[in-house]
Amino acid sequence: MPRQTNMAQQEDVFKKIVSHCKEYGFVFPSSDIYDGLGAVYDYGQNGVELKNNIKQYWWQSMVLLHQNIVGIDAAIFMHPTTWKASGHVDAFNDPLIDNRDSKKRYRADVLIEDQMAKYDEKIDKEIAKARKRFGDAFDEAQFRATNGRVLELQQKRDALHERFQKAMNANDLDELKQIIIDEEIVCPISGTRNWTDVRQFNLMFKTEVGSTAEGTSTIYLRPETAQGIFVNYLNVQKTGRMKLPFGIAQIGKAFRNEIVARQFIFRMREFEQMEMQFFVKPGTELEWFSKWKQTRMAWHQALGFGAENYRFHDHDKLAHYANAATDIEFHMPFGFKEVEGIHSRTNFDLSQHAKYSGKKIEYFDPETNESYTPFVIETSIGVDRMFLSVMCHSYCEEQLENGETRVVLRLPAALAPVKLAVLPLVKKDGLPEIAQEIVNDLRFHFNCKYDEKDTIGKRYRRMDAIGCPYCVTIDHDTLNDHCVTLRDRDTMEQHRVPIADLQSIIEDKVSITSLLKKLL
Ligand code: ATP
Repeated sequence: MPRQTNMAQQEDVFKKIVSHCKEYGFVFPSSDIYDGLGAVYDYGQNGVELKNNIKQYWWQSMVLLHQNIVGIDAAIFMHPTTWKASGHVDAFNDPLIDNRDSKKRYRADVLIEDQMAKYDEKIDKEIAKARKRFGDAFDEAQFRATNGRVLELQQKRDALHERFQKAMNANDLDELKQIIIDEEIVCPISGTRNWTDVRQFNLMFKTEVGSTAEGTSTIYLRPETAQGIFVNYLNVQKTGRMKLPFGIAQIGKAFRNEIVARQFIFRMREFEQMEMQFFVKPGTELEWFSKWKQTRMAWHQALGFGAENYRFHDHDKLAHYANAATDIEFHMPFGFKEVEGIHSRTNFDLSQHAKYSGKKIEYFDPETNESYTPFVIETSIGVDRMFLSVMCHSYCEEQLENGETRVVLRLPAALAPVKLAVLPLVKKDGLPEIAQEIVNDLRFHFNCKYDEKDTIGKRYRRMDAIGCPYCVTIDHDTLNDHCVTLRDRDTMEQHRVPIADLQSIIEDKVSITSLLKKLL
């Protein structure tokens, strides 16, 4: 299939996923009746259940499965010095550039990254053409190494990459602008190259705390949850009598005034993070870094979306605090994108907080009788990006044998918002009462939904569309044999099972425990 068509199709699929999210109560634009607020979203009745299940899967994999990891829930507002110490006040910036004709604002680094992706696309196109021409005899490695056009494109891409890295590492804003000019990058809206200079833009939201009568002070909405963990390191270590290595996990909101709001819930101004900071003995951090890379990848892959849809992307430009960093990227409809970051943050944060607070933030090692500042490995994943990856992978339009199509969300059963739909075939003859009894009984074990409206076919479709893994239908035979028809969402196979067995058949398959067991 030609690449262009493929990309257009992917875009089309993504649009469908976004509207599906709204139509079926997963995600709504914030303040929808006022036409929304840029890059802010609300989760609806099904979205909140899916989101809670994702959080539960993460939380339990950290806190239940690890004796040496505990959780906290720190406040969003923090003492303003926190952000001075962490470096966010001075350095949490993105380089922005405006196009004077369209008045649109862009991230300069993203414009350049997109340009590199264009070179990659051109190379891929050449390869696809050659593959078609040579068929089975095609040797991609040889073609890459010898084809003049590919070599030329690769050389341009590599040169651009090197120049870009240098400019980013040196924070050289003039050079970033010069790259944009030299590469003849145009604004996608106006099509012109009428660019302003590149400026730094701090992504933190500011607000005031205290009433004016008492005087106010400026504080920030936290741009990451991690700092709430660092400032509580001493509290948790002492009160929990924690011994190194140990971790502190937290789930909570974070806020970033992102310059460009794109791709639905991929880049939001208010979002949620699940972060775990793992404190280790200095010198052992790279070993732990590699351990956590594997552990986190296994967590993602246990969902069964296929190993080929994930990859690590090691950072070229390390943040000021890191000595190693990688992203776990997932294959979204708009390409491989970061879902999680794993960073070796050295002892930077704890040392900075010690310096700014004047407190001694160290660990006394009873084995060596020395005190030192622990090093930290961080795993940081966005709940919303994880949600998006789950949605994108699960959304499926299926052509059925009878010529109809159905939209089905093939969600992992443990994450599905509703686990079982209980459907009386008709609204009379005592069938609704039996259905209600089943719900009353099973609701203590998992999320059940009663539905009696419309034909059974329409009800199945509604449940497929929200990813409900099982439906049971109560019919007239149920009155005598106390059995119901159990339908599987994915295979659409149906078989009769005793009401008394429903809990044991379903519970195991839909519980978070079933996922957690895959991790051991
Ligand atoms: P990006 O490069 O995409 O801006 P980042 O590298 O700044 O992301 P981190 O600071 O490492 O992101 O944050 C950790 C995780 O938090 C990310 O992997 C992502 O899942 C999530 N995240 C970060 N920014 C946003 C955002 N604006 N909206 C939604 N999720 C986000």
